[in-house]
Amino acid sequence: MGLGEIARWDVGRAWRGADWDAAFPPDRMLPALEVTLADLGIDLHGQPNVELDLDERPNKDPRAFCSPIEVPGRVVLVMKPQGGPADWRTLFHEAGHTEHFAHTSASLSPEERRLGDNAVTEGWAMLLEHLTIDPVWLERRLDFPRPYEFAAEGATELLWVVRRYCAKLLYELEFHTAEDLTALRPRYVELLTEATKVEPAAADYLGDIDDGFYASQYLRAWALEAQLRACLRERFGNAWFSHREAGSLLRELWAEGQKPTADELLREVTGEALELAAVADRIRESLAAV
Ligand SMILES: [Zn+2]
Repeated sequence: MGLGEIARWDVGRAWRGADWDAAFPPDRMLPALEVTLADLGIDLHGQPNVELDLDERPNKDPRAFCSPIEVPGRVVLVMKPQGGPADWRTLFHEAGHTEHFAHTSASLSPEERRLGDNAVTEGWAMLLEHLTIDPVWLERRLDFPRPYEFAAEGATELLWVVRRYCAKLLYELEFHTAEDLTALRPRYVELLTEATKVEPAAADYLGDIDDGFYASQYLRAWALEAQLRACLRERFGNAWFSHREAGSLLRELWAEGQKPTADELLREVTGEALELAAVADRIRESLAAV
């Protein structure tokens, strides 16, 4: 199907990436995570404050999630492996939250451990999540056919989601200053269609809004991820994730919990300011490789 034929109900199926299922089997998800963390110097099963919930329960939601019950005392990673690229991506995202919270220093105040700038924890989650669309990681971790082709597809999805969130933020800024909210209905459709090239349902103009401009946290997290990854690749090479020193740096930064904002964290590591153009650069690089 071409872009002109795609309607909103096709989007989920397109990004589900079922054609790649064979490369992402359910039984290799956890081992791949274990080995990836081990390379970074983290023994997933040896962390006394990390619990893996792998139990089969009849109504268990198959979507992985991280439950930071105590930070850093008790962090639970809940999963029910289904396989497929989206399921792998979710597991690695949630593992990023898990390791961030589990490594947060207990000596920080509760506000610095549990509150703060969520772009930080989302950025760490995305750093691990995006390994699953990194061709170098795919080649090393999985016997993967056409990794650059898959990475380009992953980058395209990232582009779509980032553009969607940009439009959401623009819409929310207008929404929260509007006199008459019902007049925003066509504006929602206009902004989202322009950004994603797929027309959303007008009926979602009130529902598709996150509290407290959370869309901006995700956008800043994508920038943080892209800039941290660029820095890690520069320091440790494109296979940065297999370097123990990279793991030491991550653990050092994770220990700061959410005390620094994403901007402060990045400045500390690279001296740069958060810049969404870094996301465009990483997407462009993936697309240029095929
Ligand atoms: Zn997250």
